Amino acid sequence: MSKLIIHRGTNEIGANAVEINNGEVKLLFDFGIPLESMTKENWKPKDYKLPIKGLYKREKPKFNAVFLTHAHLDHYGLIQLINSKIPVYASKTTYDILTKIAPLLPKQDNARLNLKIIDDEISFKNIKVKAHKVNHSIAGACAYEIKTEGKTIIYTGDLRFHGRASYLSSTFKRKIKNPDYLIMEGTTLGRAEQNITTEKELEKEFVKIFKSGKLPLVQFSPQNIDRFVTVYRACKRTGKTLVIDAYTAYVLEIYSSMSKSIPQYNWDNIMVNFASCTINHKLAEEKILFKYKDKKITLKEIIANPEKFVIKGNWSINKQIFNAIDYNKLEIIFSLWKGYLDRPNQFDDYKDIKLTPLHTSGHAYIKDLQEFVEQTQPKNLIPIHTEYKNKYRELFSANIITLNDGEELIL
Ligand SMILES: [Zn+2]
Repeated sequence: MSKLIIHRGTNEIGANAVEINNGEVKLLFDFGIPLESMTKENWKPKDYKLPIKGLYKREKPKFNAVFLTHAHLDHYGLIQLINSKIPVYASKTTYDILTKIAPLLPKQDNARLNLKIIDDEISFKNIKVKAHKVNHSIAGACAYEIKTEGKTIIYTGDLRFHGRASYLSSTFKRKIKNPDYLIMEGTTLGRAEQNITTEKELEKEFVKIFKSGKLPLVQFSPQNIDRFVTVYRACKRTGKTLVIDAYTAYVLEIYSSMSKSIPQYNWDNIMVNFASCTINHKLAEEKILFKYKDKKITLKEIIANPEKFVIKGNWSINKQIFNAIDYNKLEIIFSLWKGYLDRPNQFDDYKDIKLTPLHTSGHAYIKDLQEFVEQTQPKNLIPIHTEYKNKYRELFSANIITLNDGEELIL
């Protein structure tokens, strides 16, 4: 008898922990921290421990494996608690992020974990798990198809259909036919803005702003490779040089194994600024920083010719720019989810600063989710990663099963 238990994530965005268990094999999909933790300065994974037996350190392991959909903290933030005897599977890119990029960031030591790469498909006795690449606001995202006792369960993780690599999500959509259960994210259900903006449309907006004559300072995550390409292309179209930090140069290098078309620090229209910060110190210790020295540009050189540049912001470079240049000569673009601004952030210290929002969601719009359900025709649809699970009944033509956290569903 196969069972599904969503330990957390049925009624909130993030903190996903999905168990599928057929009596012989026990698997967990994602193990994220709740987004609320990010408003707290000193969160620790153990503050959010869930009552799941046989998963944690110092317990007899009862799980055969854990699978991660992507490297966002609300999907993997609790993995440090997992018993190192239990393998944790992820796509090659997610594996690279967790092993090579995350250790540069605070509280993300994954060295003790038993991390493994899932290429395509893997079986544990009578359960088969297949990874499907999808497009999301971080590289390396995947959905999972699980087959147990004649039933097929699809878990979407986070996905979208309007990014640069949205063909990945479309291919996934084409491959799925009539699953018995579709566990589908619904992040955008409560969000007012459903004005479909694609990365390509965003690029046009960046081009307009880059022509404004002010020095653009763009806030975005380098792990969001679609957004990097959008900003880089807009720079090329306006003849500007994109000044990145060493951390971004390093992230791009890690991503280079995914595709030859991912821009690298030594490409045209890219320079690297070495503004001092903890990540740069770590990169210097690892002897990574010196690689970028031929592309080094100082703040002084940027200020001497501001019309030539677009700067990728970060905490350290922003501070130096704000001290050196008049706010009204800057165009500060906030190209991240606006919810981050509701939490304590560095702009709180600069009350006179005007931020220009320019962003598109990392999550599928309602219309795209409807089309996904329409085409894949699931027998049952289960909401996850949403604050509006009861809206699924109005929006999607499928049998909806709403679960509570920790509730058991016999499949
Ligand atoms: Zn995500």
